[in-house]
Amino acid sequence: MNCKNNKLLAVFFDMDGVLYDSMKNHAISWEKAMALYSINYPPYYSYINEGRTGRNTINWAFNEKFNRDAMDNEIKNIYTAKTTFMQQLPKPEIMQGMQKFIQSLKNNNIKIGVVTGSNQKSLIDRIVIDFSINRNSIISGGDVKKGKPDPEPYLTALKRFNLKSENVIIIENAPLGIKSAKSANAFTIAVNTGVLENKVLKESGADLVYNSCTEMITNWPIICNQFK
Ligand code: CA
Repeated sequence: MNCKNNKLLAVFFDMDGVLYDSMKNHAISWEKAMALYSINYPPYYSYINEGRTGRNTINWAFNEKFNRDAMDNEIKNIYTAKTTFMQQLPKPEIMQGMQKFIQSLKNNNIKIGVVTGSNQKSLIDRIVIDFSINRNSIISGGDVKKGKPDPEPYLTALKRFNLKSENVIIIENAPLGIKSAKSANAFTIAVNTGVLENKVLKESGADLVYNSCTEMITNWPIICNQFK
């Protein structure tokens, strides 16, 4: 993955649907957890709400169904159930090619950050091992007040790395994550690993959209040369 580029100092990755093929598990778990409160939450809802914190996701569903926010105990019950259902499912696979890709970026002295709305400890712990990433380089749901689509998660990452947005590329897969990244003024690549159409990702503001992680990786030298 040869790309010498003095402007590019870091790449920030979203976790679900970018580093791990985990969105199917989230969709199944949310559907089952919401059903405890008789809320119909088909997989499509998981994809359009992807990136929200657990609390915001549950409030979104409550507003759709009951026209009100959820109470704290309802949020706790649903999120606990969702986490339990997730843990019962097979461990999600690492996205094809991403381990090698991240290693090659590191070899070019490009810093790696992970920015996720998730607080799913089991997955966050895996990142450290699977991608040899320092825990301090991961911004998770607990590190921010406002989750995606607010820019706060990515602004928090920029601050932690002491970098400007013009020196960073962000890789996302979901509309709200793309909006968060673009609101932080960063060049944003979308990899379409879910069920939404490419145009949804483009309309959310992605600078480039690829059909898979491997397609993005194949095109990386071109992306890198364009990023000037
Ligand atoms: Ca995602």
